[in-house]
Amino acid sequence: MNTELSYEGVPTSELDRIRCNSYDDFGNAVVSRTSEEGGEPLRCCLTLARAGEQITLVAHRPMTVGGPYAEVGPVFVHVADCPAPVADGFPFDYRDRQAVLRPYDVAGQMLDGVVAEPGTSETELKRLFEDPAVDTVQVRNVVAGCWNFTVRRQG
Ligand SMILES: [Zn+2]
Repeated sequence: MNTELSYEGVPTSELDRIRCNSYDDFGNAVVSRTSEEGGEPLRCCLTLARAGEQITLVAHRPMTVGGPYAEVGPVFVHVADCPAPVADGFPFDYRDRQAVLRPYDVAGQMLDGVVAEPGTSETELKRLFEDPAVDTVQVRNVVAGCWNFTVRRQG
């Protein structure tokens, strides 16, 4: 089975809309803040914030197919335009983080997830995608459960 995976943050079209309107799609104003210590997971370019960067917390619904699992949750993004994520495997800044990997089928129903220890997320993802029922996997923060990005098979 093809295990080439793509890693998707907040879509560019939605980022453009949020930055242009200064509101997210759920009516929350974009409030710029300075990252003091760095380390906030950014869902625009899939990096961790560096100290001093201008970021904002907005609402995003990662699930595109709808249904009861289509949660809306908070995500940090850069206030200004930033480079698209590097298409080079599992996002580098997220490799050494513990993560919840939550798989969904094509209808958006949740399947059995796992907690990946630091350094193991990419291997765990490949294992989850060996199950043909798995359509997407959402990588999430362990404690707060916030969505980081969505993973799917390429093609
Ligand atoms: Zn960014």
